[in-house]
Amino acid sequence: MKRVSIKWHLFTYLLFFCALLLMILWLFQTVLLGTFYRALKVNEIKSNAVTISKNIDSQDLSSLLETIAKESDCYIEILSSDGERITSSGNMKDSLFDGQISSLLSKVKNGDYIEYITNTPPNRKDDFKETAPNDRGPNQSIVYLKTVGDQIILINSMISPVNATITTLRYQLYVITGIMLIFSILLAIFIAKRVSNPIEKLNNSAKNLAKGNYDITFNNSGYKEINELSGTLTVAAIELNKVENLRRELMANISHDLRTPLSLIYGYAEVMHDFPQDITREQTQAIMDEIQRLSSLVNDVFDISNLEAGTQKLHKEVFPFTASLKLTTDRIAELVKKDGYHVSFHYNSEIILNADEVKLTQAYYNLLINAINYSGADKEVHVNQIVNGNVVKIEVYDSGEGIAKENLKHIWDRYYRVDKSHKRSVTGSGLGLSIVKKVIELHGGKYGVISEPGKGSMFWFSLKI
Ligand code: ADP
Repeated sequence: MKRVSIKWHLFTYLLFFCALLLMILWLFQTVLLGTFYRALKVNEIKSNAVTISKNIDSQDLSSLLETIAKESDCYIEILSSDGERITSSGNMKDSLFDGQISSLLSKVKNGDYIEYITNTPPNRKDDFKETAPNDRGPNQSIVYLKTVGDQIILINSMISPVNATITTLRYQLYVITGIMLIFSILLAIFIAKRVSNPIEKLNNSAKNLAKGNYDITFNNSGYKEINELSGTLTVAAIELNKVENLRRELMANISHDLRTPLSLIYGYAEVMHDFPQDITREQTQAIMDEIQRLSSLVNDVFDISNLEAGTQKLHKEVFPFTASLKLTTDRIAELVKKDGYHVSFHYNSEIILNADEVKLTQAYYNLLINAINYSGADKEVHVNQIVNGNVVKIEVYDSGEGIAKENLKHIWDRYYRVDKSHKRSVTGSGLGLSIVKKVIELHGGKYGVISEPGKGSMFWFSLKI
């Protein structure tokens, strides 16, 4: 349907264009031809009169008159003010009779006068009848008079009848109209094919994309706009492909992460069901831990999807940044103290920030938990707050196994884990760092990591104060 539409549109436009062109051609070639011709003739006569008037006293006047009369095919007379002929040049057939001249002379005002005379002067009429067939229309001449001092220049120029020319032109225009019509149809078909074919190809590829075939490529066609469109669609396909891959990964990750704690909980619950008298604190604690793990996973997934979708806006307010991080650190330090961890927080000044406290604390929490989870045998984690100018930097150090260089750039990606089959003691959704990344980006801050395998890692982020 669309293809037909493009073709028809093009065809209509081209046809309209041709019709306009032909109309202008008709108008100028037939209707306005006489008017144009006359105007040109009058111009020519006037400029000739000016030339003559400039040379009226010159010796070569007669030769000049001859040349002009010949070139412009006209009859020229120089008269005295009382109508006496001083000199003349050109075809005597075009001379005017005395009565006409005196009537014209009486009409000259302001230096010049122009008159259109239909038919030849009476004394020459018979001659003309022979040479002027009926279909050529009435003979017309332009008579122009110009006074120069006490002399008068009279130029009589015959206007050739244009009717015969118009008839010829009209026949030519019929042929031209036919040719243009065929030409515009062919051109419309050609252009439409050239334009609509690549669009049609794009459309087919886009339909495949819509069906979920994301590996599709959109071919370039040579037209800038279509190339741009196919480029955009290719990018869209790549992005959709990524989203699709992430979705699969997410499903795999989440189902794995849900299944493990769930089966553990089920295992413990089964034991309790079968041997209610043997319920121990460790068992109930294990169930509680697993449920906590599940709920933190669900929270992470929820947070990252909100952050990614851009539905979560920052709720900025002025808050004591240093104090808030210190409080978080102390709480966690207290929590993990029983497992032998030592977490410390070092700072020189209390910073107040205008930022989203909840999100920033969460980002910091993620870094801290990672440092604890991945810390080494010494179970030491320490945090430094460094203020440099109007920038505050938080550094979280651990002395764990570190991260290999090739993994460094991936750890900020969603669901990326260096060790896919991580130890049970190390929990995580693979979302922690991507949440950090999003939150810091939303705040316009910077983040990074320095890590050496075997020695430990230093995760950092910095914000403008
Ligand atoms: P997870 O929940 O798996 O920790 P993160 O997004 O927080 O997910 O981290 C991604 C990966 O980066 C982790 O699986 C781990 O391999 C690595 N990583 C993060 N923090 C550290 C750290 N302090 N030391 C070593 N590796 C780390």
